[in-house]
Amino acid sequence: MASPLIRKNDIVIVKQGKDKGKTGKVLVVHPDKRTAIVERLNFVKEFIKPDRSKNKQGGIMDKEAAMPLSRLMLYCEDCQQGVRARHKIHEDGSKARVCPKCDNVLESQK
Ligand SMILES: [Zn+2]
Repeated sequence: MASPLIRKNDIVIVKQGKDKGKTGKVLVVHPDKRTAIVERLNFVKEFIKPDRSKNKQGGIMDKEAAMPLSRLMLYCEDCQQGVRARHKIHEDGSKARVCPKCDNVLESQK
């Protein structure tokens, strides 16, 4: 299976929706669903019902919801914008995603 261009720990920028223009770190990628969960982005309210028998309080909790990968782009900190990464193959055969504008390597540190 082809690996998605966006991977865990990447810094991405949101291109569409209510969080447009915000950046965050990818926490989880679901390649089969083509979605990702990005840290502190796309919060949804989760309503928790109070449960008197367990003495549990109800309330509203914010949690991150998955976003379609098509709304996300890799973020280049040097260019300060989302970029379409291209693959670069080093002399030792290892591959890295780089920014097409400034040639910055966009791989997160392993
Ligand atoms: Zn760049």
